[in-house]
Amino acid sequence: MKKSFWIETLGCPKNKVDSEKLAGTLLVDGMSPADSPSDANLIVVNTCSFVEQAREESIETVFEYSQMRSKDVQVVVTGCLAERYGEEISHSLRDDVDAVAGFGVPVSISSKPDVSKFDLLNLPRPKREEPWAYIKIAEGCDRLCGFCAIPSFRGRQRSRSIADIREEVLSLDLQEVVLVAQDLASWARDQHDSPLGIVDLVKEINQLVPWVRLLYLYPSSLTGELVEVIANSPVPYFDLSLQHVSAPLLRKMRRWGDGERFTGIINRIRDLRPDATFRTNFIVGYPGETEADHDELIRFLEKNEIDWCGFFPYSKEPGTYAETLDGEVPDALVMERLRELGDLQDGITEKKQDSQIGSRMSVLIESKGIARSHREAPEIDGLIHVPGSLKVGSFETVVIREALGVDLKAEVHDSDYWGSDD
Ligand code: SF4
Repeated sequence: MKKSFWIETLGCPKNKVDSEKLAGTLLVDGMSPADSPSDANLIVVNTCSFVEQAREESIETVFEYSQMRSKDVQVVVTGCLAERYGEEISHSLRDDVDAVAGFGVPVSISSKPDVSKFDLLNLPRPKREEPWAYIKIAEGCDRLCGFCAIPSFRGRQRSRSIADIREEVLSLDLQEVVLVAQDLASWARDQHDSPLGIVDLVKEINQLVPWVRLLYLYPSSLTGELVEVIANSPVPYFDLSLQHVSAPLLRKMRRWGDGERFTGIINRIRDLRPDATFRTNFIVGYPGETEADHDELIRFLEKNEIDWCGFFPYSKEPGTYAETLDGEVPDALVMERLRELGDLQDGITEKKQDSQIGSRMSVLIESKGIARSHREAPEIDGLIHVPGSLKVGSFETVVIREALGVDLKAEVHDSDYWGSDD
């Protein structure tokens, strides 16, 4: 009987891609996916170590699997936690797991897995049931943002070649590609002999699949050409990695920009494409964040009305520049600021959702009764509820009839009946 595997994925979309590639490798090795963790001969926990909370969740998950398994089941820990704290966790989990391995796990369940590293970027992955997929175009990052430990364990940026990315996209037979990387717009800057850049890549992928979405754009990398390519595509969605808007605080974060520049970028995009959608993230409570900085962020949100926004409490990461900074913001104050920002943003998102009622849009049916338009990135934004009769993987024109919190409800557009909506 075939040996079976279960992969538990924690963390961000980039980790999901690694898990799919790991699954592809295990399938090629002759294993099959288990229906549940209790049926598996091998359990792989693909961990996240982005912040303290993610590390705790990862360790708890490893313990849960370690305790539930029978003695002939192997448990392997991989992902960011394994990469970042490999030696420490190998030692502290030595009685609970069979291996702790960096990115890529050459797994053999007949003997202890080798703890070696290989590059997951270019491994094959199985076909997906969903009509969309994340495609990782680079690994690592060359920036030095004050709060971020990623470059210290993921290393310098390594971009995949356009041919490899193209091959992966074609092998998956998709309607939507979501390009991901730590610093997406810097794709290919590490390939000094290549004249290509992110604009060329997006144009190329746009030829292969109807929808191309880009996640995590560092604002200074958003050139006029890149803005135009995205704004003129069927997916005018801008995921801007802003982190804050106060200039002094951004300098302490070792990042570019300020609220005025960001507002300028957003306005230029909206001039080009009024239905463009924006997402961003902000860190709350970075060392030295003053009441004035916080107020500036509030005013920025009120003025720019970004569609989707995430707010994260600052997490002190070992080995980062921010760890050395004074001006720690008390936890209670961070919570209060998070609540205020969250309440404000909830109102903005609700208003944005209400404003969609009556509008007509093209959606991709991603599963039975569930669709997304250009306004919703998979797994992070809202969804659109549509009639269950619509074919998964097809594009349909719908009319939004109702807002249900962050989600919307739509009916199929009938040009005869709904002609007045035009
Ligand atoms: S660009 Fe992103 S991954 Fe790179 S250092 Fe900054 S926060 Fe970290």
